[in-house]
Amino acid sequence: MAVQSQIVESSVSSLEKARQQLLQAGELLGLPAGLTERLGAPDKLIQTYSPIRMDDGTIRQFSGYRVQHSNILGPYTGGVRFHPNVDLDQVTAHSMLMTWQCSLVGLPYGGARGGVTVDPYQLSDGELERLTRRYTSDMVLVFDPKKDIPTPDVNTGSREMAWIMDTWSVNQGFAAPGVVTGKPLSIGGTLGRKEATGRGLILSLQQLLAFKGRQLAGMTVAIQGFGKLGSVAARLAQEAGAKVVAISDITGGIHNPEGLDIVDVLEYVQANRFVKGYPKAAPIGEEAILYLPVDVLIPAAFGGQIHPGNADRIRAEFIVEGANGPVTPEADALLEARGITVLPDILANSGGIIVSYFEWIQDNQQLFWSEEEVNERLKDVIARAFAKLARNVEERGMSFRMGAYVEGVGRVAEALSLRGLFP
Ligand code: NAD
Repeated sequence: MAVQSQIVESSVSSLEKARQQLLQAGELLGLPAGLTERLGAPDKLIQTYSPIRMDDGTIRQFSGYRVQHSNILGPYTGGVRFHPNVDLDQVTAHSMLMTWQCSLVGLPYGGARGGVTVDPYQLSDGELERLTRRYTSDMVLVFDPKKDIPTPDVNTGSREMAWIMDTWSVNQGFAAPGVVTGKPLSIGGTLGRKEATGRGLILSLQQLLAFKGRQLAGMTVAIQGFGKLGSVAARLAQEAGAKVVAISDITGGIHNPEGLDIVDVLEYVQANRFVKGYPKAAPIGEEAILYLPVDVLIPAAFGGQIHPGNADRIRAEFIVEGANGPVTPEADALLEARGITVLPDILANSGGIIVSYFEWIQDNQQLFWSEEEVNERLKDVIARAFAKLARNVEERGMSFRMGAYVEGVGRVAEALSLRGLFP
């Protein structure tokens, strides 16, 4: 089935938005202009044209990217996305967000991002495997457990990570499980990774609500995107006592004001692949889901969804950014003025990279943890990161986004200043 996102993103480029937010944080931190400028530029941009043989014998080539933003705090890491919208601007912006995210949650990593411009739904499994392996082969000098560790993102998961690990290992002549994270368990993956981003999102939301003297139980929730992140967030929100009233995916949305039974929806999606046609709810448009009068809105599909053109239509009290940059900087200000709290992506979707870090530690030590241990440690890391940004909100009157950015950017800026400039 050929499916492509119909969502129209804001016209401001992703990189422009990321730089605007960096500038704001730089001003709040009082950083010299030259330092902020350095932080706004990536270390390296790598572009490939990976040719593959299609099933019908023809040859097609696909643009592949890896952008390494900063390794000041440790090896680069970040997701690899397979999507028709992937381009250098988006990958560069996300690599920068990744640096702030790793820094905010205290990981010894720097940010990178990668991807291939392709609609994976139009390729057979064999074509997709050949593309993943060729992309990896073209990046064989770029990826490395000590230098740059790819992770899953949109349309990539444990299967693609296994192909990347195998291709890289074959090229090196030894098994290197630490070269990617988000792998299947049997080849060095960790328990808890599959659910980590959704779990981290709900844990950070619970931190926010506790800070506000509120609780998730009894709240209504709408979620845009029902993939690896949105589906886990929906199930865990329901388990925490919230009523998930609407969800959507690329085929449209479903809405039931009485609350959806997420386990039942998951079974339906397992059998039918998408939410469309789910019988125990009414259909709702992919945009309309953003405007429902719910307590919590979780955009967990793509960036640029809430912008100045629609910010006044948002009726949720809390927005939790599952996707990267779903609220534009201009919309941030409009929402804040209306008393809507935005929990920023660099905290809200950090669960995946935190548990990827746990996976990398376990691979390097060949010592594996229980799922409870993984989840407990995740909870602890999120709580500590939230406490840092909450302090900035409480004591310095910052928005939650700037509270998070000031922590994330500040630690990298300090490390950069201490390490100095080479040569
Ligand atoms: P995924 O590919 O598993 O799921 C994406 C979901 O979005 C799918 O349900 C898809 O149908 C849906 N979607 C696509 N177009 C849509 C549209 N027009 N309207 C509504 N839904 C639409 O990806 P994921 O891993 O769940 O990631 C979702 C977002 O979260 C991405 O922005 C990603 O960068 C971000 N993120 C994910 C992780 C992770 O570990 N999975 C970590 C950090 C950030």
